[in-house]
Amino acid sequence: MQLPEKITLCEVGLRDGLQNEKSLLSTEQKLQLARKVIAAGCRVVELGSFVSPRAVPQMADTDALFAALAGDPGVELRALIANAKGVERAAACGCKKVKLNVSASRAHNLANLNRTPEESIAGFRDCTALAAERGIEASGSISMPFGSPWEREIPVSQVCGMIEAYLSVGVSEISLSDTSGMATPKQVYELMKTVQAQYPGVRWWLHFHNTRGAAMANILAAMEAGVTRFDASFAGLGGCPFVPGAAGNIATEDVVHLCEGMGVATGMDVRQCLAIAGEVQALVGHGTDSCLLRAGCAADLLRELPEGQKRARDCNRTEP
Ligand code: ZN
Repeated sequence: MQLPEKITLCEVGLRDGLQNEKSLLSTEQKLQLARKVIAAGCRVVELGSFVSPRAVPQMADTDALFAALAGDPGVELRALIANAKGVERAAACGCKKVKLNVSASRAHNLANLNRTPEESIAGFRDCTALAAERGIEASGSISMPFGSPWEREIPVSQVCGMIEAYLSVGVSEISLSDTSGMATPKQVYELMKTVQAQYPGVRWWLHFHNTRGAAMANILAAMEAGVTRFDASFAGLGGCPFVPGAAGNIATEDVVHLCEGMGVATGMDVRQCLAIAGEVQALVGHGTDSCLLRAGCAADLLRELPEGQKRARDCNRTEP
C-alpha cells in the first residue's frame, strides 16, 4: 500500500459543522474551540464564512473570530466567501485566505447559492482581483464533483471545466467536496490520478462527508493516489440543508486516529482531538458521527477512559 509520510488536515468544524447546527455557539465558545484545535496541532482551520448573516446566522461572527485569532504565523485561517463583499469583510478583519465555491451540480448551485454555476464562475474574477489587491490569497472549491442527488453522474469534463475556470483567474489551490456523500474509493482514486496528471500545478484538497460511510475509504484511496490534504470536522459535525440525508464530514479525531495507526503523520494529537470532539458534542447537545467518541482510542482499549470521554461515549450510545 502506497501511503504518504504525512498529510495536512484542515479543521472545518467551525464552518461546515456549526453552520448546520440549530443552536448558536457564542463567539467566546468558538474562539476556545479554535484555540484548542490549534493547540492540538492543527495548522489549517476554516474559521467561518463571510456570507449574509441573515441567510446563515451561525456564521455572523466570523469577522470577530478572525480579529481575535489572525496573526499567528504558523496557522492558516481561511473563510468561505460567496462574492466580492466577502473579500472586503475578509480584508477588514485580517483574514488572509478566502475560499470560493461553485457546485458541479447545477441544481445544488441554484439551491445553495441561488445562481447558476456559470453565474458563480463569472463572479470569480472580481473576487480574485480584489483579493490580490488586498493581499489575500484565494482558493476555490468544487462541490459534488463525484455525483449529485439531482444529476446523478457528473462528467469528468464538467469538473475539468471548473478547474480550468479557477486556473484562469489565478486560483491554483482547489478543493473537491463530496457534499452529497456519493463518492466511492475507486472513483476518487481515478479522478485524482486524472486531475493531478492534467493539472500538475494545483494544490488539491479533498472534503468528504460520511453520508454513506465511505469517507474514510475515500481518504485512503486519495492518499494512495498521492493526495495529502484533507478537510475534517471535529466530532464529525456538518451537513448541507439542501442535500437529502446529508451527514457530517468525516470526524477529525477518526482520521487522526487511523493515520496514527498506519504511521501517517498528521501533526495532531489524537487525545486532544478526542477531548475537543467530546466538548463539541456537549456544546451542540446531541450525538454525532464520531467513531472514536463511541469506542475510544484502540491503544486505550484495556485502560479506563477518563470521565469526560466516558460521558461523551455514553451520550453517543443513547442516540437512536
Ligand atoms: Zn461540506
